[in-house]
Amino acid sequence: MNKNAEIIAVGSELLTPERVDTNSLLVTQQLNALGVEVVVKQVIGDDRAMLSRAIRDALERSDLLFLIGGLGPTEDDVTRDAAAAAVGRKLVLSLEQEAVLLKRFRQLNKPMAENNLRQAYLLEGAEALPNPHGTAPGQYLITARGAMVLLPGPPREMAPMLENEAVPRLKLILPRRCIKTRSFRITGMGESDLDKLISPIYKRYDNPTTTILFAAGDLFVHLRTRCATERECCLLLREVGDPIAELLGERVYTEDANETLEHVVACLLRHAHATLTTAESCTGGLIAARVTELAGSSDYFMGGFVTYTDAQKTQVLGVPQQLIRAHTAVSREVAGAMAERARELSGATYAVSTTGYAGPSGGSECDPVGTVYIGLAGPQGTKVKRISHGGDRHRVRMLATQYALDLLRGELNAREASAAMAARGAARE
Ligand code: AMP
Ligand code: MG
Repeated sequence: MNKNAEIIAVGSELLTPERVDTNSLLVTQQLNALGVEVVVKQVIGDDRAMLSRAIRDALERSDLLFLIGGLGPTEDDVTRDAAAAAVGRKLVLSLEQEAVLLKRFRQLNKPMAENNLRQAYLLEGAEALPNPHGTAPGQYLITARGAMVLLPGPPREMAPMLENEAVPRLKLILPRRCIKTRSFRITGMGESDLDKLISPIYKRYDNPTTTILFAAGDLFVHLRTRCATERECCLLLREVGDPIAELLGERVYTEDANETLEHVVACLLRHAHATLTTAESCTGGLIAARVTELAGSSDYFMGGFVTYTDAQKTQVLGVPQQLIRAHTAVSREVAGAMAERARELSGATYAVSTTGYAGPSGGSECDPVGTVYIGLAGPQGTKVKRISHGGDRHRVRMLATQYALDLLRGELNAREASAAMAARGAARE
């Protein structure tokens, strides 16, 4: 019942470092909205034989095939020929399309070169898809399993043809299907721990499908379901997603796929009418950069200190030299002092700090490369978290920003929870 699709982007330029196939993203989006999953996507150069073979394979495996590009008038535009060879049909001159072309050239006040006529040839039995933005018409051919759709390469021609011509035709032949997704963004745990925790739930289902993506401490669980109706989709996403949400608890920082951790922290700071400052060593300003990524961050972010050397930690922040000497700069004590001093100097409600070994060299026996102490000073006192993860310098630094923002998120959540509890208590009295 579920229909699958393949996309072939045609054009040798798409195999160079200069050009990227963007058309297939839009096609995928439209197909998903119709409940069709894209199962294979290929980029093939302007090679008739190679393309023809790929088309034949795709039509055997999948219900729908989109061919994008290679419909122009020149010798290197091979899609029509390759498609004809693949399905064993002739290309026939459409007098109607010839008239459209002639009219278009007349309007442009240009003579029509002979090779342009190639664009008026259609696969036998195919329907022409009008192209108001260019010369090459698209083509729509019903096949044994579904349909094959040929679209022009230029995005400004492809997009309207897809939406206005291809999609309405597909709607007529496709079963009613709906695709819905539910996402969880998680931090504060590793990817294998996450998978161990939730796989007993999601492994029982092949609908929805579950994917786990991750980048330095930022994990993404994506459930994707395909059903006949939106209601069925919602019920399934609840059936699988709710127990996952319960297992992950506080570690889920949002269910909005596009919401970043800095966004969530920003909302919490705003809600608490609180302000923030940073005192960064090994992250060199990355936390401040992430926080100020958002427009309007001056409402809660006061500014930050980047104190990289021991001397700067003392001179700028006023971290006592003896403290650094006694514990080294990468220590629980110094991280705490950095946050406390930054908070005092700025007057912010909260201060986060980082001090660690980003590598590749450095580190000590008990604190190897990858160890970062993250401080948080606030109205409830000072906390320091130690993380120690492998990876390159970039990963260690990004992880540190992630854990720092997450430490602050935890504190703000706790503050909100206790405020809510106090309000309930007052209401009872
Ligand atoms: P064509 O229809 O093959 O003559 O392609 C014409 C132009 O459209 C190319 O030079 C590209 O700039 C653009 N184009 C073709 N295919 C794609 C694609 N899959 N994604 C984005 N642009 C494309
Ligand atoms: Mg081309």
